[in-house]
Amino acid sequence: MAARQCPQCGTKIPAGWLAAFSDGLHCPGCNAYLELSLANRYLATTVGLAAGALAGWLAAPAAQDEFPGWVLPLLLSFLVFSLVSPLVTILVGDLVLKAEEAPAPAVAEAAHSHDHHS
Ligand SMILES: [Zn+2]
Repeated sequence: MAARQCPQCGTKIPAGWLAAFSDGLHCPGCNAYLELSLANRYLATTVGLAAGALAGWLAAPAAQDEFPGWVLPLLLSFLVFSLVSPLVTILVGDLVLKAEEAPAPAVAEAAHSHDHHS
């Protein structure tokens, strides 16, 4: 399947949406509730962590003689992680239908049944 595509109707999801709504988003075509596949999440986290660790490792020798030497590599690896992780998500874009639906209809039905009171 193509990246960033709704598995139900095939609508392309804008890349920015994926970076912003990684916990779930509504398809602009069919309004299905979508989320990133587990594999996508693991991949994004793993690649992000690896890139962050690499950045910290590369920055460590250079930062030795500066002010608090350990801050810069730590900061850099965090920055790299927070950049690379959503980037992988955008590139892979493996979307699946989210099982749970919005709870709104159930709530409306419960309220309706109470109307038969008198
Ligand atoms: Zn759709």
